[in-house]
Amino acid sequence: MRLKRMMQGAGFVYVLLLLGAVCPSLFTRNQTEEEAPGTAYANASAYVADAMTEKPKIAITFDDGPSTVFTPQLLDGLKERGVKATFFLIGQNIEKEGASEIVKRMYDEGHLIGNHTYHHVEITKVSNEQAYQEIMLTNEAIQNITGEEVQFMRPPFGLWQKALEQKIHVLPVMWSIDPLDWATENVDEIVNKVVTEAQENDIILLHDCYDSSVKAALRIIDLLQAEGYEFVTVDELMLD
Ligand SMILES: [Zn+2]
Repeated sequence: MRLKRMMQGAGFVYVLLLLGAVCPSLFTRNQTEEEAPGTAYANASAYVADAMTEKPKIAITFDDGPSTVFTPQLLDGLKERGVKATFFLIGQNIEKEGASEIVKRMYDEGHLIGNHTYHHVEITKVSNEQAYQEIMLTNEAIQNITGEEVQFMRPPFGLWQKALEQKIHVLPVMWSIDPLDWATENVDEIVNKVVTEAQENDIILLHDCYDSSVKAALRIIDLLQAEGYEFVTVDELMLD
């Protein structure tokens, strides 16, 4: 019985690995917790006074886009809610027909745009030169549309080469909540996982290449806004 369960488990992992080849955030590592908020305050009353005026911040991020089908729906929903998000784009997706208009819209509507490599490569598995090309090609594709330098990237699979930072001026951005949206494609599951885990300064990872993820994202935003959270782009959390 136990063996059978283990075998089923192995089958499940195999399916996840197959799925991972398409939208591979399974191989993620949780970001280590930052210092607890508020520790920089000299005394408790100053913290309380500030906490009364400032809402807890949280960031929602989307990898693997743009999708010409789902990203526009997401952008509509974000606009209705007055929310700014962060998008980590795959270079080759930007070159697809109709995609550059979506990237321009993201930029015009105040979202932060980062790099997710050109072919969704695992940075640690390719040569330094290839990694450099993957990042630079994607930076160029984004900059040609926005006219602004790209400052952030999310390395596919969460694997980064620190040495690259000497050559390329992009900051890697990991995440702290990963509902594995691409694996479940179940809106309720995604929403529940994110909303129960959410805390101040969290970075939520989703993928805007699925209908279920877009629906879940908008519900997550509605629920967390009702709890008093303010959605910000990742630069606001990282550069604070
Ligand atoms: Zn990805």
